[in-house]
Amino acid sequence: MTYIGRFAPSPTGPLHFGSLIAAFASFLDARANDGKWLLRIEDLDPPREQTGAKEQFPKILDAFGLYWDEEISFQSQRHNYYQDVLDTLLSEHYAYRCDCSRKEILARSNSTVYDRHCLLNPPNSDAQCAIRIKCKNISISFNDQIQGPYLSSLSQSGDFVVYRRDNLYAYLLAVVVDDYLQGVTHVVRGSDLLNETPRQIHLQQLLDYPTPAYAHIPVASNTQGQKLSKQTFAPALKLDNLVPSLFNVLVFLDQQPPSELLDASRDEIIRWGIENWDLEKISQTLAKPVDRSE
Ligand code: GLU
Ligand code: ZN
Repeated sequence: MTYIGRFAPSPTGPLHFGSLIAAFASFLDARANDGKWLLRIEDLDPPREQTGAKEQFPKILDAFGLYWDEEISFQSQRHNYYQDVLDTLLSEHYAYRCDCSRKEILARSNSTVYDRHCLLNPPNSDAQCAIRIKCKNISISFNDQIQGPYLSSLSQSGDFVVYRRDNLYAYLLAVVVDDYLQGVTHVVRGSDLLNETPRQIHLQQLLDYPTPAYAHIPVASNTQGQKLSKQTFAPALKLDNLVPSLFNVLVFLDQQPPSELLDASRDEIIRWGIENWDLEKISQTLAKPVDRSE
């Protein structure tokens, strides 16, 4: 079996303990399957980027001993691929242009689900437009390796945006195109992206791309039940306690590391993680609290 996995952080803030969980889990799953592990920086949204974040990511992963294969890819340098796919989606009539503002949509339908106004009334060719994917009567089901069977009706969330009206490629488009072009076979990432997955699978199906295996790990929440993120002020990873941090990730992922490992070296703990990796041990839950300020 060929296995290609990846870690795909967005440089909207520093890596925190939640990022380390996603990085280490995807790394361990790749290495335990003799796979490749790629690093892709998802710098699609310059206004939301934090200066210096993407330069830091490789340094931090390096310090933790999580070495990736191949060159780092940057989504900011891959716009031509996304544009080609957008052109295909439009020419196949899988997608259409839309110049509605959020306000207009809300005012017409009192809902954020798009009412398809622009499918029936195409905007002028010079209008600044988003591009939306048609998804009427589509339901997608897949079997998540951790969360189990998942079924979603795309009609409920409406025709989604793959190109934004502010001239940015949407995450949903870029992630599907890149996972395909990079040959990614296994996606291990946080459960916050579980409900984005059916739309990604729908795009893969429209484009005749294979669907990778998905494993959505629980996200770490703070003691108030909020996901650790830049928005909840999760502290940036520190490099002065690598071994306890990696150990805590193994605990979080229910791998049951023996406490002696706390005295091991960084590379020993990584080796233990690879040798003992068992995806099936991970709890089938969307979020779990961590009670330390890692
Ligand atoms: N860039 C996304 C994020 O940081 C993750 C993308 C993915 O793993 O599919 O939330
Ligand atoms: Zn519209």
